[in-house]
Amino acid sequence: MLTIGVDIGGTSVRAGVVDNRGTILDTARVGTPSGADALNDAIVSVIGSLSARHQVTAVGLAVAGFVATDLKTVMFAPHLAWRRAAVAERISAKIDLPVVLEHDANAAALAEYRYGAARGAKVAVLIAIGTGIGAGLLLNGKIFRGAHGVAPELGHLRIVPNGRPCSCGKAGCWERYCSGTALSATAIELLSGHPGQSTVLAREAAGDARSITGRKVAGAARDGDPVALRAMAELARWLGEGLALVADIYDPEVVVIAGGVSESAPLFLDDAREIYRDTVTGAGYRPLARIRTAQLGDDAGLVGAATLARDVLNGRH
Ligand SMILES: [Zn+2]
Repeated sequence: MLTIGVDIGGTSVRAGVVDNRGTILDTARVGTPSGADALNDAIVSVIGSLSARHQVTAVGLAVAGFVATDLKTVMFAPHLAWRRAAVAERISAKIDLPVVLEHDANAAALAEYRYGAARGAKVAVLIAIGTGIGAGLLLNGKIFRGAHGVAPELGHLRIVPNGRPCSCGKAGCWERYCSGTALSATAIELLSGHPGQSTVLAREAAGDARSITGRKVAGAARDGDPVALRAMAELARWLGEGLALVADIYDPEVVVIAGGVSESAPLFLDDAREIYRDTVTGAGYRPLARIRTAQLGDDAGLVGAATLARDVLNGRH
C-alpha cells in the first residue's frame, strides 16, 4: 500500500510516494505560489504527477500552520495563503483520493517515531529548530494535538521575561533565543557591544549586519570564529534551559532535535545536554530523556504525512 506525503513549506511544495517502511520511492516538487487557489492547484499538480506513475491510496499534507482536529481544515498558516480553509475537501475533490492534513512538526515527529530517532519511545518530543521552533509530541505513538489542534507550541514558551520581541506578539519566547534567527540576533548583539573586533563575522557585519544569517554564524563557528562560538554557546544555553522545561512538563523518553540548525549539533548539543542535566527539576535524582538528533532530515514531514494518511485509512489515529 503506497501513500503520498506532501510537505508544504513557504518556498516549495515537495511530494513523495512512500511505502509502509517509510521509504520514499519517487518525488515531485514545485515552488510555493502565493494565492490560495494557486497553492491548491500546485498541490494537485504534484500529486497528479506521482499518482500517474504509482498506485496510491491516500494523501497526507504536512502544513506549517494550525490544523483543526478534524485533520481537514487549515485554521491559520503564517507563511501560506490559507485562512480557515477546507483544504482537504478541495484537494480531495480534484484528485479523487482521501486527504488528511497535519501540522508539519507533528508529521515529522510521527516519522521519527516510526522510522527514525524516536523509534518506539513511549513519550517522544520533537523540537525542530530552524527559523523558529516547531514542536511535536507523541504519546505511545499517537500525536498529541491538544483540545483544539494547536499543541504543543513550545517555541513560544516565554523563557526570558521582557526579552526579545517575537512575531507572535509576546516577548522573550524560546525561539527568539534558540533558532537560526536567534543565532543571527545574538551574533549581531555581540558584535555591536564590542566594536573593533577583527573576526570574520565582524568584517561581514561591517558591510551589512543583516547579512549575518544563522547559517553564516554556524559556518563561522565551525571555522573557530570566537564571536560565532559565543553565539553558539548562548544557543546551547537556551536549548538546555528549554529542554529542562520540556522535561518538567512531559518527562519524555526521547527528545529529537530536528530542523536546519540541528545540522550544527556537534557545535552545541553536548553543552545543551549538560545544561539540561543540571537545570531539570530533581537534577541528579531522576532518569533523563535521551536527547538525539533527527535521522530523517528534510524528509520527515513528507514521510510522516504519508504515514498518517495510511494510518487514518486503516482506522488508526
Ligand atoms: Zn512568540
